[in-house]
Formats: sequence, structure tokens, C-alpha cells
Amino acid sequence: MLLLIKLRLLTAELFMQIEATVMPSDYRYKVWILCNDCNGMSEVFLHIIGHKCSGCQSYNTRTVAPPPADLQ
Ligand SMILES: [Zn+2]
Repeated sequence: MLLLIKLRLLTAELFMQIEATVMPSDYRYKVWILCNDCNGMSEVFLHIIGHKCSGCQSYNTRTVAPPPADLQ
């Protein structure tokens, strides 16, 4: 139980770190991500620490190649 509480605190801290870290202007471009929780694809700004799913707000995502133009 204590381990679970510590894990949740660490996760919350990581999310706050992501929100607080502004990427340099050279890296302000969008990338496509695939969410491992809801399987949704979304286009978000590149971030060095992690990307938040636009569908379910999860950070359990990975960058992927853009979908074909007719599916966007
Ligand atoms: Zn999601």
C-alpha cells in the first residue's frame, strides 16, 4: 500500500514536471502519438519527457508515423 502511494506521488510529480518544462522554440512542432491505453492516435506538440493522449489524458503513449492524409 505504501509502495502504491509512493508510486502515485512520483507519477504526479512527473506529470507536473512535463507541464512545467517548456520546449525550446526549435523543438516546438507536432508529432503523432499512439496511446497504449485507448489505442487512439492524436497530434501533439513534441515533448522530451512524454506526450499526453488527447483522448484519455494518459501519458502511456509512443510516437508513431503520421497516418495517411485521407485518415487525418
Ligand atoms: Zn488514450
